[in-house]
Amino acid sequence: MKIGVILGVRPEIIKLAPVFRELVNRNIDHFVIHTNQHYSYDMDKLFFEELNLNPPKYNLECGYDSFKKQISFMSKRAFDVLQKEKPDNMIVFADPTSAFAGALAAAKASIDISHIEAGLRSDDLRMLEETNRIAIGQLADYHFAPTVGAKQNLLDEGTNEERIHVVGNTIVDSVYQNMEIANKDKSLLEKLNLEAKKYFLVTAHRGENVDDKETLSNILKAMDMVYQKYKLPIVWPLHPRTKKMINTFNLKIPECIKIIEPVGFLEFLQLETNARLMITDSGGIQEEACILKIPCVTMRLTTERPETVNVGSNIVAGLNPDKILESVETMMGRDTNWENPFGDGKSAVKILDTLKNIY
Ligand code: UDP
Repeated sequence: MKIGVILGVRPEIIKLAPVFRELVNRNIDHFVIHTNQHYSYDMDKLFFEELNLNPPKYNLECGYDSFKKQISFMSKRAFDVLQKEKPDNMIVFADPTSAFAGALAAAKASIDISHIEAGLRSDDLRMLEETNRIAIGQLADYHFAPTVGAKQNLLDEGTNEERIHVVGNTIVDSVYQNMEIANKDKSLLEKLNLEAKKYFLVTAHRGENVDDKETLSNILKAMDMVYQKYKLPIVWPLHPRTKKMINTFNLKIPECIKIIEPVGFLEFLQLETNARLMITDSGGIQEEACILKIPCVTMRLTTERPETVNVGSNIVAGLNPDKILESVETMMGRDTNWENPFGDGKSAVKILDTLKNIY
């Protein structure tokens, strides 16, 4: 069995790390294509280094362009690699443009496609990620769904049930594998002058939020309102896209927000574990908050992770500052004894067991 893997953005590196470990431990012939969709050191190489991953064999260097150019360059260059490597199966992860491009290239090269984190749906077609997910779902041969809800979404779209495997989400593997190392170190908290459980952790980077001036201003305003109510520090590792848009719109960041550069996964886990509450528009952080038992407020209109809302770890607040504050107030009072719906941390093992049986 020979496996190809394509990735391009930070969350893919974090969530595929357990799959890479399994591929290496089992001595399975594999290669990795990096599209370089994320290209700065602190959004890319840092994660290969700190998670002890081998550097990718191929780098497609497609980081700088628009969606249209990225998708065509990535899929064409990935196709050339696949023609040369001829894997039995190509793994694509979740919903970034890199995953969609990888799926297109593999389909064109008549190579089987495994989609990991398959079946998530926000039903919000304004999100590039949502159209990517649906398209990848149509192209994929094997669907590794994290939950039964995700499986149901695929069944509703007519996917053959025999091709769907519910395996949990590899983020649980990743969190479990790294939490102990992350928690041994408290130096970032000390450096930022933060006390455990006495700060809010914030991230925002979705295009439909930060590329719109009014929405981004509302997010900043909401953070100020949360600070005025609780007087707890607000820490925000700023995504490069959000930084660019704050500058483009010439927005003023309220003084209560402690802006920091994006940090590595180990440091981010440290910040998450010790946070009182997280406020985010990230997909992965909704899951991590749920796994780590930290209350979460999501600044979006919908979520493709409804399991987090169902177990009570997350509220989808929308983007009105009053609603965001109200949701923070609700989550501040909530017990954190919810169940983790994303599996037992053995997703990568299950995925590779399944592929071994197929090939
Ligand atoms: N993350 C990180 N450093 C940071 C912010 C986030 O390592 O400064 C990690 C976080 O733990 C999660 C992932 O990046 O695993 C989430 O990435 P992002 O929010 O960019 O993408 P999404 O999950 O929305 O696709």
